[in-house]
Amino acid sequence: MKIFGENVFNDAAMRERLPKATYKSLHKTIEQGLPLDPSVAEIVANAMKDWAIEKGATHFTHWFQPLTGITAEKHDSFISPTKDGHVVMEFSGKELIQGEPDASSFPSGGIRATFEARGYTAWDCTSPAFLKEDAGALTLCIPTAFCSYTGEALDKKTPLLRSMQALSKQALRVLKLFGNTTTSHVTSTVGAEQEYFLVDKKFFDKRLDLMLSGRTLFGAMAPKGQELEDHYFGSLKTRVAAFMHDLNVELWKLGVLAKTQHNEVAPGQFELAPIFGTTNIATDHNQLVMDSMKKVALRHDLVCLLHEKPFAGVNGSGKHNNWSMSTDDGMNLLDPGPNPHENFQFLTIISAVIKAVDDYAELLRVSAANPGNDHRLGANEAPPAIISIFLGDQLTDIFEQLQNGGLNRSLQGERLASGVKTLPAFRKDSTDRNRTSPFAFTGNKFEFRMVASSQSISGPNVVLNLIIAEVLSQFADCLEQAPDFDQALQALLKETATNHKRILFDGNGYSNEWVEEAAKRGLPNISSTVDAALVLMRESTVELYEKHKVLNRTELESRYEINLEQYCKQINIEALTMIDMAKHQIIPSAVKYSTQLANSITAIKSASSAVDISVQAELLKDLCSTLVSFNANLINLEKVTHEAATMTTEAYAHGVYYRDVVFKAMQALRTDGDKLETIIDADQWPLPTYSQMLFML
Ligand code: ADP
Ligand code: MG
Repeated sequence: MKIFGENVFNDAAMRERLPKATYKSLHKTIEQGLPLDPSVAEIVANAMKDWAIEKGATHFTHWFQPLTGITAEKHDSFISPTKDGHVVMEFSGKELIQGEPDASSFPSGGIRATFEARGYTAWDCTSPAFLKEDAGALTLCIPTAFCSYTGEALDKKTPLLRSMQALSKQALRVLKLFGNTTTSHVTSTVGAEQEYFLVDKKFFDKRLDLMLSGRTLFGAMAPKGQELEDHYFGSLKTRVAAFMHDLNVELWKLGVLAKTQHNEVAPGQFELAPIFGTTNIATDHNQLVMDSMKKVALRHDLVCLLHEKPFAGVNGSGKHNNWSMSTDDGMNLLDPGPNPHENFQFLTIISAVIKAVDDYAELLRVSAANPGNDHRLGANEAPPAIISIFLGDQLTDIFEQLQNGGLNRSLQGERLASGVKTLPAFRKDSTDRNRTSPFAFTGNKFEFRMVASSQSISGPNVVLNLIIAEVLSQFADCLEQAPDFDQALQALLKETATNHKRILFDGNGYSNEWVEEAAKRGLPNISSTVDAALVLMRESTVELYEKHKVLNRTELESRYEINLEQYCKQINIEALTMIDMAKHQIIPSAVKYSTQLANSITAIKSASSAVDISVQAELLKDLCSTLVSFNANLINLEKVTHEAATMTTEAYAHGVYYRDVVFKAMQALRTDGDKLETIIDADQWPLPTYSQMLFML
């Protein structure tokens, strides 16, 4: 397909345009994680510029991922003045390698204040440069890391690259023990399935809450929800199909392998799955996916909602982060092969994953925490806030064998008969599906299903890479010193299977019984972003991150501050938006309608005293009493929001106040608001309804 990757300065473009020696040197850096030779930058910059200009680009930007979780750019033109008053198009090696955006407006959690005001962007040559199209203009985007002058990571990319290095180092130690001498580099691989909602732009434009906070803050449930389950995998509506086609073209040009797309469980909800790639590139690509979804939707008069819970009462959105590890010589380390019970390398790696997830469940939980996801996790629609692992029948059986000491079989998948002769008999996967598990083994990869739909996937993958690197290092420490490798390995696998069986769970993760059972097993259950943040500041967390040089204490402190600050800011925006809508839309319409009812009552009464006006009277009574309660809740919300905004407390206490006081007050106001919606004449209700937003696409 011709358009695929046409806007990417990819391997093929580099091979074609770079001198052989430069290409080789750069390729080595990219493939094997070796340091970049500075002399190649000048040559690469020139080739990149020529390529971009031929395609019609006039500007370039360092494209980076500050701690806001979205991407940032600062555009510069290639134009450079000459002495004789003309211009030439220039782009130097230095401009490619390093940039200096005005960093003061990005969150730094105090890092820049303590160290140095400026931030720098540095070229990440492991993720290819690409051309971004905006309103017809093309800009060369160079993926970069964003650091402070003293090297502290101010972004989401730097720790991700560091965690990938740490994982490679420790995985190689373990592979070596199994006699592997050919692999020189191990990378984690990721495929991130992205869920999203589409709503008609004409409805979106009338909803201040969607515009400002990404979710509906008021809205009574539609008469029809998702109970019929007729949307899931249903056929696509023409308009949505046109959007998806456009989106695919946009993404293919950017080299994003968008592969499958389908309706999701909730009405108006969809999903896009790409083909997996190196974690770093997959993370960049997921940002491009989210960005393109929003942009392309607008072309179809649709708005793409990436919020985790745009509509109360219907399923929200998440991201399924499919994760594995592969070697530079093409081996997937989580591929069990035909007989996993004889594949000790696989059993060692998967045991490391299991131990890591059990030992560091709380860190994984933190990595998926944001205010939007607080509405989903544990709400019987998404995985609970408790981390557990689903292994499937085959591996569960093997882990039981391991605990009992001795391995002699791998259960094999049965043939699946459809009962229809003309359909091929297909083999059932040896791993079944369990949609309710937050961390499921799906044949040759793990699927981490807690990730929030709007967040960068960097955080979750930093944690996965880091915790698995740590356990692999523990395994390597133990096995490297063992006098008898086989014996030591058997003992290690048995010990791991025994000590960590509590994290394995194949049942219904959405049930209340599981919550009780998990508590008995001592598994952590952190229900909110605010509490999750505390885990970042634990001494054991700091030690772990510092040991593998992924984040230092200061960098962790900054993330703690930012997580809580963003939580407070988000709730504050939501509260203020509710107040605005309550005062300027809901109360006026309630007043108008109550006046109408009152006028009708008086008019009817004066026309005839024999007419029964009890319905109008009842409505009026109901409306006015709800309005009184609504107003009281509004006054309370205004009061507590003001208190929260003017409080000077430590970040955690501030978060707790927003969660326990402000958020509660918002819920109370919403209950009355939604009741008013059911009373007031539909023609006079000022907001598009759930029925319109969810079903009119
Ligand atoms: P499933 O049937 O499990 O949904 P798919 O093959 O459709 O499997 O995969 C779902 C997602 O997992 C896709 O984005 C896919 O690219 C990704 N994926 C597949 N293999 C790997 C792997 N080895 N590492 C990371 N992600 C993977
Ligand atoms: Mg999935």
